[in-house]
Amino acid sequence: MNVSMKEWLKKRMIPQQWQAAKEVIKKIEQAGFEAFIVGGAVRDYYLKKENNDVDIATSALPEEIQTIFSKTIDVGIAHGTVIVLDCGEPIEVTTYRTESTYSDHRRPDSVEFVRNLQEDLKRRDFTMNAMALSQAGEYIDYYNGRQHIDSKVICAVGEPAQRFEEDALRMLRAVRFAAQLHFSIEENTFEAIRKKASSIEYVSIERIQVELSKIFTSSHASFGIEYMEKTTLGDYLYGDFAASKWARYCSEDRQVGWAYFCLVNGSDVTLLTKYRCSNKDKHFVKTVLDAYESLQNGISLGDLMHFDSMTLKTACQFTIWQNRKLELSYEELAARKDALPIQHVHELAITGKDLLEWSSKKRGSWIKQTLDAAVEAVLNGKVYNDKQQLKEWFYAFHDEG
Ligand code: ATP
Ligand code: MG
Repeated sequence: MNVSMKEWLKKRMIPQQWQAAKEVIKKIEQAGFEAFIVGGAVRDYYLKKENNDVDIATSALPEEIQTIFSKTIDVGIAHGTVIVLDCGEPIEVTTYRTESTYSDHRRPDSVEFVRNLQEDLKRRDFTMNAMALSQAGEYIDYYNGRQHIDSKVICAVGEPAQRFEEDALRMLRAVRFAAQLHFSIEENTFEAIRKKASSIEYVSIERIQVELSKIFTSSHASFGIEYMEKTTLGDYLYGDFAASKWARYCSEDRQVGWAYFCLVNGSDVTLLTKYRCSNKDKHFVKTVLDAYESLQNGISLGDLMHFDSMTLKTACQFTIWQNRKLELSYEELAARKDALPIQHVHELAITGKDLLEWSSKKRGSWIKQTLDAAVEAVLNGKVYNDKQQLKEWFYAFHDEG
């Protein structure tokens, strides 16, 4: 699916999701139970921001939800979640629950279903994420979520140190929300993160990777990185989180974010393995860092041909974000790239087969070397990209027998 189609669907899906969620709630209420929209969707609704992930919390048990609706998917009945398909859009419905002790700092030892909304909201991480919205549009806001949103602060629900002790990921989520919303972290919550920062080591590296990706792609990434430094969370994770290097950075692309993270860490691509990034990510990052390196050394025509426009653009941005002088603007580089006599090795008018015909030599590494030399000669205007002329060039310089 192309991007514009995705965007279009996303725009259409949101009102439909909300509509579907309202219908689901009404049906649950008709069956005599409570149900509310909860979590990030309520926060973003209050912030008037898009959110395409509308979750419902209910007093009904999962089996009760399955009897109210005809089309459901059981995704995590043990945790109380059922997906309802009856109302056009898939809607996640989760039974109110509390969480017991957390002996591993990341997962509750068990969850217990309850019939009371306040109990459910109490287990949520931050006050802005602990609000509920009725289908009629009324807020249930026991922990001053709206007031904290108005004053742009991220505030833990309950006693912060205890909440981070239970689940260390919440600390990184606080920083991620700070970066996404440009909110500050409330003083007690901040102090608790500083105190508990080392327990981030209990969190799985995959979850950390996801949160870091969200920080890197948020509109206030450098503000988030500052928090990584100030809270000392960064000290307990791979790589250096030095906010000064991120002051000019801004990207919505997670791969660009990871590439920049490696760059500011001395182009250390081993970080990608440490954070379990994909091979596709590794390939992207290595290419961009090579292009960046090439740009710093005065890019050759071969490299100009080799790197695609997006890679060159990213390398130019990196140069600017690093406060380094850009010898040629991206537009100038792109114009030079367009003007190259060939855009790809495959456009060369000769192939290895031609070389074998013209020479008495056997197959070998000389073929690739000669083709590379031919590309360079064509790019530098020493010979036209024409088979006959390349043949003469070959006989003149390369066929020693
Ligand atoms: P996003 O917009 O990134 O999806 P979100 O707030 O919806 O943000 P989710 O991870 O989708 O985040 O979680 C949904 C809700 O579940 C949160 O709003 C919060 O109420 C609760 N929640 C999620 N993770 C935690 C956690 N680690 N500890 C406590 N509550 C959590
Ligand atoms: Mg969400």
